[in-house]
Amino acid sequence: MALIVHKYGGTSMGSTERIRNVAKRVAKWARAGHQMVVVPSAMSGETNRLLGLAKELSPAQQTPAMLRELDMIACTGEQVSVGLLSLALQAEGMDAISYNGWQVPVKTDSSYTKARIQSIDDARVRADLAAGKVVVITGFQGIDEDHNVTTLGRGGSDTSAVAIAAALKAAECLIYTDVDGVYTTDPRVVPEARRLHTVSFEEMLEMASLGSKVLQIRSVEFAGKYRVPLRVLSSFTPWDINIDEEAKSGTLITFEEDEKMEQAVVSGIAFNRDEAKVTVMGVPDKPGIAYQILGDVAEANIDVDVIIQNVSHDGKTDFSFTVHRNDFQRTMDLLKNKVAPATGAATVLGDPKICKVSIVGIGMRSHVGVASKMFRTLSEEGINIQMITTSEIKTSVVIDEKYMELAVRALHKAFDLDADNSPVAENMS
Ligand code: ADP
Ligand code: ASP
Ligand code: MG
Repeated sequence: MALIVHKYGGTSMGSTERIRNVAKRVAKWARAGHQMVVVPSAMSGETNRLLGLAKELSPAQQTPAMLRELDMIACTGEQVSVGLLSLALQAEGMDAISYNGWQVPVKTDSSYTKARIQSIDDARVRADLAAGKVVVITGFQGIDEDHNVTTLGRGGSDTSAVAIAAALKAAECLIYTDVDGVYTTDPRVVPEARRLHTVSFEEMLEMASLGSKVLQIRSVEFAGKYRVPLRVLSSFTPWDINIDEEAKSGTLITFEEDEKMEQAVVSGIAFNRDEAKVTVMGVPDKPGIAYQILGDVAEANIDVDVIIQNVSHDGKTDFSFTVHRNDFQRTMDLLKNKVAPATGAATVLGDPKICKVSIVGIGMRSHVGVASKMFRTLSEEGINIQMITTSEIKTSVVIDEKYMELAVRALHKAFDLDADNSPVAENMS
């Protein structure tokens, strides 16, 4: 008997029929003798709907007071889900009980809409499990020290599930979703993408941080920190498939590099359409200028990603960086109204229609020429690279958004990831 955490995403919870299926699957695991904790998301579309209502009344959505209310609104989707799932489990003959995040409690900091989990009290859940109950806990939600409801950012139910699994020292955390595992890239963009049977924790961390939304990045960070065995699998297999078969399906996130993985130079391609580029033109090229620009941006709580400072020309330089697209207007206003006058910059330019495409693979550590192959592939497609950033196991480029799919497809093929000639998928099976 093991303690297992299941997480079901929005599509998997998308209708009462699907919730019934989730309940049947969970009941199967419980009947096999496991202690079960289930973390569902809001029904698909619900979080968007709720945030859409909020936007109608408050288009700006910026002050902490407004963000607090957004969390108050958005967290309700998950409350409905846990109640419905618990009812469905009871209908399956299970003794099930549901909790909101604050009832556990899942304690977070106070960064509304992107709160971080600080601690989870496991006492109540453990008592329920000991009494033979299936415990259903909201994803996405938490509570800060002043008892304000918080949410963990879009896709945050993954993080709730892994954090709960860590707190309970669960044997495994299974992330059930609408694809049957982690693929070489988003299978909705590249139909030739192949499922990885295993993916290293480091690669998963990069893929998630670079835009593969199959797992929220913080869930991968938690899994790494607390060594939570983590698997991504499909909720669309028949609920009554053999449990041992199900337990081995999907993609396992592994913590040890094995030889097979070494052979794959690039194991995945990630992309991110959520960024925007800004450029401060003609700033004086002198010590402290980066700080002068980015200090104000950081103070406004705007996260910066890729940064480029160009060569100096007549003592002046251009300074570009990317921010989340939601922060684009705010960044432009800040640069125009505060930074440009303070630094003597000539102009501020902005481009919200960019995207970042990245190749990821631990094999890049031991192979040379990988980045240049990426640049060649893009140039052969006539795609202009605006920015480049690299680390040990990834290379990212910023390009015009309209070339995103073309770039991803071309790179997927160039690095031999396409279905029929993928050394990665074959080696990893
Ligand atoms: P859930 O609602 O279950 O949390 P998400 O929509 O958040 O599901 O994440 C699953 C989606 O992630 C898939 O439908 C797929 O389009 C997308 N995705 C992006 N990159 C990948 C990848 N490398 N492998 C698998 N899915 C990916
Ligand atoms: N319901 C939240 C969202 O749509 C959390 C999640 O699904 O993981 O982002
Ligand atoms: Mg998700």
